[in-house]
Amino acid sequence: MWLGSTIKEILKNLSESPVTSAYPFAEAVLPENFRGIPILLIDKCTGCSLCAKDCPSDAIKMIPDERTKRKQAPRFDYWKCIRCAQCYYSCRYGALFISDAFELATCCKETATSEYLHVPEPLIPEPTPLKRKKTDT
Ligand code: SF4
Ligand code: SF4
Repeated sequence: MWLGSTIKEILKNLSESPVTSAYPFAEAVLPENFRGIPILLIDKCTGCSLCAKDCPSDAIKMIPDERTKRKQAPRFDYWKCIRCAQCYYSCRYGALFISDAFELATCCKETATSEYLHVPEPLIPEPTPLKRKKTDT
């Protein structure tokens, strides 16, 4: 009985293609609605800090922004970020998008922030909006 079901399972798996991919030797195929890191579009940011207030991981700090000389703009501690996309949903100004970029290894957590870890422009895909939550207006 046990042997029969095992052989049946082996034969079934032999005829099916693998469920895993050969990444990093093959291109990674990301699932639809994959959530990577949030990226700030500084020109659209008003510094309202809603994203920081709603982040469940305390991964967003509001700091003075050198580029725009604005009083405050979000800095993302990607080492704390759990990729939940809540900041994206909270931002009312379209100033955030969720990137597909995921190969972001760095040597230490101090450099795993949006101040240091700039995703190169070519890696920033044309933002595909995540499906909005039903409660969003
Ligand atoms: S994706 Fe989630 S954890 Fe990461 S910064 Fe945004 S709200 Fe915080
Ligand atoms: S919620 Fe949007 S506009 Fe407000 S601080 Fe965050 S990124 Fe900027």
